[in-house]
Formats: sequence, structure tokens, C-alpha cells
Amino acid sequence: MREERIWVAGHRGMVGSALTRLLRAQGRNVITVDRSILDLRSQPEVEFWLRASQPTAILFAAAKVGGILANSRYPADFIYDNLTIQSNVIHGAHKAGVERLVFLGSSCIYPKFAEQPIREDSLLTGALEPTNEWYAIAKIAGIMTCQAYRRQHGRRYISVMPCNLYGPNDNFDLETSHVLPALMRKLHEAKLSRAREVVVWGTGTPLREFLHVDDLARGVVHCLDHYDDYPHINCGAGSEVAIREIAETMARVVGFDGRLVFDTTKPDGTPRKIMDSSRIRALGWAPEISLENGLAATYRWYLETIAAATQ
Ligand code: GDP
Repeated sequence: MREERIWVAGHRGMVGSALTRLLRAQGRNVITVDRSILDLRSQPEVEFWLRASQPTAILFAAAKVGGILANSRYPADFIYDNLTIQSNVIHGAHKAGVERLVFLGSSCIYPKFAEQPIREDSLLTGALEPTNEWYAIAKIAGIMTCQAYRRQHGRRYISVMPCNLYGPNDNFDLETSHVLPALMRKLHEAKLSRAREVVVWGTGTPLREFLHVDDLARGVVHCLDHYDDYPHINCGAGSEVAIREIAETMARVVGFDGRLVFDTTKPDGTPRKIMDSSRIRALGWAPEISLENGLAATYRWYLETIAAATQ
């Protein structure tokens, strides 16, 4: 058997960096390549890299990602970049004889009104949530691409669907980020400037399922090592929280004691999206980091890196 070489594609992002940390801590052979050297949107470059680097497995965490506003502002980027990079990497992996590939998706691939908790088999049974359908369509195409290479070429390529994630190396840009990093930054800056109010988008009523990225990384590596049946598998925390409640928790973690104001001109997105993760739990994976501990750890990381760098 060839010596293991795992390429983490997208190693600078929140998910990719968590995967790299975990695999290195396990003493495994990880390879990465910087975006200044390899543009994943270029098919010849990707194929050249795969032939030259000869990974035995790929963890595909490279994606154009963003929150509710970024998705509606940049639909072309979200659909084009994601379709292109994933097709290049999956097809290139097949051509280079890569045995294993784990494609990372998202819970937004499921229909807006799917029965909750959302099971894997509800994929493609209804219309998508319009605020992120461009990204969702690309991710659905990625799952189907893995499935197609399985069926036609016997490739052991699978997909893991995480719920909303948070943790170190998240995007803290207020326009393009997801809700947790946005709230952390807004509340932190409000605390420093002694502001009395922080604006939270939407009504505060949507429910979301949040998982610390280190828990997801353990789930993905667990699937890489032990899972090869159903083409895609959910990986979620198993509990849901209203945006209002998460904003209150975050205010506690950060130490902001002013008011939360809800801006209902901003979109709510889907009302609810909790996944049924019983399949991955049956394989022996379970989340270990509670939301309160995970948020506190992420805030410490934020203070040491982002906040320290901008002072
Ligand atoms: P989604 O899960 O795909 O909808 O992505 P987001 O993480 O961007 O948004 C989740 C929910 O949080 C939505 O209902 C947003 O309106 C709400 N939200 C509240 N405040 C913010 C904020 O400052 N930024 C973002 N991105 N979402 C926010």
C-alpha cells in the first residue's frame, strides 16, 4: 500500500485549518498548497498539481463561502467559483488515481421546507432557500459529481454535510461573514466603544444548529477512515438555537451589557434547518464542545489574533 498523503484543499480557511491541525496532531502526513501557487479555478494547474503531488486522499474544504448577505450580493461568484473548483478537483482526483475524497457541503443543500430534523434522503425533494441557492446548487452538484464518479468509476468519494460552523480562522468581515463571527465582532467593538446598542439582523426568531469546527474536523476524519456507504452524510450538533438567544449568549461571552436591536429590514433566511445526524452518530462520532465553551474559546482566539492585530 502507498504511504498515506492527505491533501487538505483550502487549508487556510476555518474548516481546512481545523482539518490540518487535527491530522497533524494525529501524526498523519498532510500536504497543502498555497493559493499563490495553485489556482483551483484552473483545470490544467489542478491536474498538474495532482499528478505531481500524488495524494492518496483529498479533504475538499476549499470553497467560496459567505453569509446571508454575501450570497445574495455575489451570486455569480458563489456559483461559478464553487462549480469550477470542485469539478477541477474531483475530476482531477479521478484522473490522478486518488483513492479517497471527502467533499464538504452544507445544510443549505436541503429544501427550505424539508421535514426537520433533515435526513440525508430529503436532498432534491423540494425548492431551496432563495438567500443561498447559488451556493447550494453548486454544493448539490459537488455531491452528485462524487456520486457519479462512484457509480461510473468505482471511486470511493463521499460528501459530508456540516451545519452552521464557527471557530478559529472564521471570516469576521461584517458584510460577508456568517452570524456568529459577525455578532462576536460587533459586540466586542461595542464593548470597547461603550456603545449601548448592537444591531442584530432579522427578527431573531430563525433557528440554527451550530457546531464547533474542531468537532466537525473529527467527524470528517472519522468518515475518511470509517465510512464509505451512503454517498453523503450529515454532521451536526443535534441541537438548535434561536438567533436572539445566540446573540444573548454571545453578549455574555464578550461581556457586552447593552441592548440588542433587531433590524427586520435584513433577511431572516430559512426559518429552521436542523439536520438529522443519527447516521454519523451510529458510526461513533459525537460533538464534544458545548456552544458556550466553544464560543468562549473562539472569543479568546479572536482577542489573541484578530483584535490584537487591529489594535
Ligand atoms: P444562514 O444560516 O445561511 O442564513 O447564514 P448566516 O449565518 O449569514 O445567518 C443566519 C441568521 O443570522 C440569519 O437569520 C441572519 O439574518 C441572522 N443574523 C443576525 N445578525 C447577523 C449578522 O450580523 N450577520 C449575519 N451574517 N447574519 C446575522
